[in-house]
Amino acid sequence: MNVRGLADELGIWLRIAAGVESCCAAPQGEQLLDNLAAIPVVSSRASRRLGCYVFCGDEPVCIRLQFAQEPENLRQTFLHEIAHACDHLSQHGGSRRVAHGNSWRQWALALGIDTATTGRSVAIVALHQQRRKLVAICLACGAEIYRVRRLNRNNRYIHSSCGGVLKTR
Ligand SMILES: [Zn+2]
Ligand SMILES: [Zn+2]
Repeated sequence: MNVRGLADELGIWLRIAAGVESCCAAPQGEQLLDNLAAIPVVSSRASRRLGCYVFCGDEPVCIRLQFAQEPENLRQTFLHEIAHACDHLSQHGGSRRVAHGNSWRQWALALGIDTATTGRSVAIVALHQQRRKLVAICLACGAEIYRVRRLNRNNRYIHSSCGGVLKTR
């Protein structure tokens, strides 16, 4: 699936096209829209992030999305990553951009999404933290190890930063 396919499925392609038109004049805007449409969308199972835009140099690679989201949330996340893609595609050869800087905000506004990214990431971090448990304590330095998955109690684990034995819980 690519951006165009998912945007059609979610019924937001016209909204995206209108946003790009309003930000970028005709020839560049059309080119940008074509490039955007072709970016692959891949499913991500990361619990820390609901989505991300991946690129390599000037080239877009893909948009990763966690599909286990409420539909409205998925639309918002998708548009958020599309704003990153537009920001990247419209600045070929530009210097390193700030992830949620002014140019990203302009794209986000054109696409009609919330620019308060901090609220969004707080929710994601909370989701991830909820899933982490205290799994071991280092008997040498007392460090507490938190993970999403428990350790196997039958194994012996060594604390990598001090070499002490970890007591699993
Ligand atoms: Zn972002
Ligand atoms: Zn230790």
